[in-house]
Amino acid sequence: MTIGDSLAATADRFADNDALIDEVTGTTLTYRQFRDAVRVLAAGLMRRGIGRGDRFGIWSPNRAEWVITQYATAEIGAILVNLNPAYRLREIEFALRHVGIRLVLASPAHRDSDYPGMLTAVGEALPELESSIIFGSAEWSQLTAPPTDDELQTVADARAALHPDDPINIQFTSGTTGNPKGATLSHRNILNNGYLVGELCHYTDADRICIPVPFYHCFGMVMGNLAATTHGAAMVIPSATFDPSAALRAVAAHRCTSLYGVPTMFIAELALPDFADHDLSTLRTGIMAGSPCPAAVMRRVVEEMHMSEVSICYGMTETSPVSTQTRSEDTIAQRVGTVGRVGPHLEIKVIDPVTGTTLPRGSTGEFCTRGYSVMSGYWNEPEKTEQVLDGDGWMHTGDLAVMDDDGYVQITGRIKDMVIRGGENIYPREIEEFLYTHPDIIDAQVIGVPDPKYGEELMAWIRLREGAAELTAADIRDFATGQIARHKIPRYVHVVEDFPMTVTGKVRKVEMREQAMQILA
Ligand code: ATP
Ligand code: MG
Repeated sequence: MTIGDSLAATADRFADNDALIDEVTGTTLTYRQFRDAVRVLAAGLMRRGIGRGDRFGIWSPNRAEWVITQYATAEIGAILVNLNPAYRLREIEFALRHVGIRLVLASPAHRDSDYPGMLTAVGEALPELESSIIFGSAEWSQLTAPPTDDELQTVADARAALHPDDPINIQFTSGTTGNPKGATLSHRNILNNGYLVGELCHYTDADRICIPVPFYHCFGMVMGNLAATTHGAAMVIPSATFDPSAALRAVAAHRCTSLYGVPTMFIAELALPDFADHDLSTLRTGIMAGSPCPAAVMRRVVEEMHMSEVSICYGMTETSPVSTQTRSEDTIAQRVGTVGRVGPHLEIKVIDPVTGTTLPRGSTGEFCTRGYSVMSGYWNEPEKTEQVLDGDGWMHTGDLAVMDDDGYVQITGRIKDMVIRGGENIYPREIEEFLYTHPDIIDAQVIGVPDPKYGEELMAWIRLREGAAELTAADIRDFATGQIARHKIPRYVHVVEDFPMTVTGKVRKVEMREQAMQILA
């Protein structure tokens, strides 16, 4: 089945259900109207000569047209390329050139104040780019003009000719560990992941899912949009970019049953001064992913936001994305301490990253997964693909994990962040968790920095509680002595207001390491 086939089935079955409620543009569409809008745009794209295999970029924050475009490209087999709306000239040029994009759809924000002249500059730098079209412009109106019956027939024929293994989407990774990489994903990859993730959330056509996470990332477009459309559930867009108040207002106004976010988003919602004024009693479930969730936050999400079935998902762009997920019956401790168990129809294993042998339960090693979800490769980068995908189809994630006897997985860090000091492997996550226990430290990140004697030394970056006195390396040494092994005590301490972050809300340790070199120079 392709994404177009799946949408057709849902639109037939749940024609009058709400499909899309968009607070950004004030649009509400039933599944029948949504499918029609998708086919109108698909016909417009074909009129412009876009078809199977053509790369088609979308560079916009969340709004109704994003979702319509997502499904219109899938309908005719064009490869949707998700471009982060925060990309600036250098990044957008890199991404467009890398995948050879013919046409870009962009939001009005990319035309005016925020990005003056950016699209013109991109056009000049990339002669192969035929055009960029702004939502709502005259060109957009042409693209969405009512199609003839013949044109609609051409769209139907195009859909019938597609294969589930066709590439349909190039998604860039977050760029946490380096330059973003473009994962090539098929209908089979993302449609199944959206469907199965939604199954474990027990979605039905009665669900209404509030999606404040960005669509350009797999969290929004797969775990959000595809999970919804494969179940006849409604997609609710509370704002263009994350706004905690808008998210809670949308949940209350549209009686949402599910709410998504990375842990920092839930923290922001819970911290709103008028948090208690929002009626969140319709919530039942939701998804939290991307990074570990502190226990206190999880408890409040379950108790005060009514999300007793909230799921923790772990995965990566390259695996469509979800590999493991907690189940609705799992305890709070399991949702805080683990990322759940393997998803349906997938295989996982933990290996010794050096020898490649599978490790017994309870040992830390590299998390690997195999199955329908694994990408075909990085777009046009066979060497990088070979580094992560082995001959037997296993994706080597670069994440460190340990699996217990019941199959629950814990993510304990990234191989790239592991520090080797004097021949000892040190996992920064462990030191970070220890530092959190200091009453004045609200957040801590630990990296390795080069050292002539030990190879690497530890450096802790800390954020202090408001009003707390400065902490020095000597203070941390006193605090840690006798609590953790000597070789794990950070040699350097650097107090910061904020950490360098990716737009998807993750700490960029590569950038911290670069800055550390300057600090120590
Ligand atoms: P890049 O690959 O460009 O360096 P990235 O790995 O952060 O960036 P994504 O594909 O967006 O890009 O994120 C996947 C990674 O996020 C995983 O490999 C894992 O390290 C982390 N991650 C995802 N979910 C969780 C989770 N529930 N708990 C802890 N870490 C998670
Ligand atoms: Mg990655």
